[in-house]
Amino acid sequence: MRTKSSKKNISATQEDYLRTIYLLQKKNLPISVTNIAEKLGLSKSTVSERLKELARDKLIKQELYGRVTPTPKGLVVGKKVTHKHRVIEVFLSKKLNIPSDEVHIEADILEHALSDKVARKLDEFLGHPTRDPHGSNIPSFD
Ligand SMILES: [Zn+2]
Repeated sequence: MRTKSSKKNISATQEDYLRTIYLLQKKNLPISVTNIAEKLGLSKSTVSERLKELARDKLIKQELYGRVTPTPKGLVVGKKVTHKHRVIEVFLSKKLNIPSDEVHIEADILEHALSDKVARKLDEFLGHPTRDPHGSNIPSFD
């Protein structure tokens, strides 16, 4: 039986939230319940509930007026998932010739399945791409 709660896995849903938070921060947009709900296509009440969980797991800090700030750990998760998402998009587009307008939805699923080890190998295999098929910057992994 595992007892170390600090080693608790981060769920796919939490990764989606942390990626959204990372991207809002990158764009210098307010990291608010409203903006997160809009990006994820979810209701504000659903988002509020999930944010409580993320705060409890010390991945974000909840501020006044529905604003949140990622903790350093939460930020790393958001950045890594963004990296995985975009590298997967490059792979699907360049190596499997999947049309670039179809790769996003696939990457949304696969980004959660890729271990850090495989993500590093994939990045290497692709020659460390710097842009995804949509022209967005790929953040470095480490
Ligand atoms: Zn995408």
